Amino acid sequence: MREPVQARVDLDAIRANVALLRERAGGAETMAMVKAEGYGHGLVEAARAALEGGAGWLGVARVAEALRLRAAGITVPVLVVMATRGEPFEEAVAAGVDLTAGSGWQARRLAEAAERAGRPARVHLKADTGMSRGGATMADWPATVEAALAAQAAGHLRVVGVMSHLACADEPGHPSIARQLAVFKEAVEYAEKAGVRPQVRHLSNSAATLTLPEARYDLVRPGIAIYGLTPVPQMGTFGLRPAMTLVAELAAVKRVPAGSGVSYGHTYVTERETTLGLVAAGYGDGVPRHGSSLLEVLAGGRRRRIAGRVCMDQFVIDLGDDTASPGEEVLLFGPGDHGEPTAQEWAQALGTISYEIVTRIGTRVPRVYSGARWQ
Ligand SMILES: *Cc1c(COP(=O)(O)O)cnc(C)c1O
Repeated sequence: MREPVQARVDLDAIRANVALLRERAGGAETMAMVKAEGYGHGLVEAARAALEGGAGWLGVARVAEALRLRAAGITVPVLVVMATRGEPFEEAVAAGVDLTAGSGWQARRLAEAAERAGRPARVHLKADTGMSRGGATMADWPATVEAALAAQAAGHLRVVGVMSHLACADEPGHPSIARQLAVFKEAVEYAEKAGVRPQVRHLSNSAATLTLPEARYDLVRPGIAIYGLTPVPQMGTFGLRPAMTLVAELAAVKRVPAGSGVSYGHTYVTERETTLGLVAAGYGDGVPRHGSSLLEVLAGGRRRRIAGRVCMDQFVIDLGDDTASPGEEVLLFGPGDHGEPTAQEWAQALGTISYEIVTRIGTRVPRVYSGARWQ
């Protein structure tokens, strides 16, 4: 291992996860969400593997991400799900990137950018069906639809989609789910009556794709499940395979006496003479400092808890009387094949979600791919 830390990404796992999701989605098309660097796995690589797995659309949060996909030669529809004022919409329209409008003024803004770009903007109208995040509330929906239709009639805009997002799809049975589905149906019907002919209606994230067949419509938008992490931990793994394995080098090994304070603040003190191992990964790489004296890793085939505080570039584990050699690999998390924790296990211990674990893996950590089918 040349690098002190590596995030190994199994592209075959991403392909297989997308294929599994496609099967669960019935006849609906799949938009693979690859925002935030493909949830930390690598934007372009994750996108290519997802397309090879059968996705036909890609979703991102920023125009810059969409433009990078285009620059990589990816020609499938790419939707930017956020809409903030400073974004280079004209460039996005020129590159044939799909954009989101959640209000009348957003639709008009996109139409203006389209006029400058000299081609119609491809737009998805976003309804706020009860999450109270992005999108038009039902009070603002008629004005949003009307603005989009006016711009469409003027040739500046084409309504490609009608979409929404669920707040509690990861809590099956939550009463908000049925309410949001009912409001979405109403929003779609209103738009269609007004003359909108969307190619795709969509509102399913990973959790909905796996648990809510009635929410599929024409297209599903899974993110976390593509990377093999369960969106509904209380329901198990759904047969998904985690794509990322975080590996770090055991940088040093040494014998210390009982009573040795370990790392900043001496929050861990050895109870007896023992062997300490120094692992070359820290919060600068995305190992959460909240994981100090809490998270486990796999070293020498055994689970070991982080001993004391996680530092920026390193942390310590207590190896007891095990023998270990500098240069050995320590598995921080992965699919669990060798007994290492999963990102979900880390997330649970930390009181967060697996999304945050993989997305926060630092930019200095090289992503090393297996299963690439391109040069
Ligand atoms: C991120 C995102 C998704 C994917 O959510 P997951 O829970 O990761 O499946 C779907 N739709 C929108 C609008 C998103 O922003």
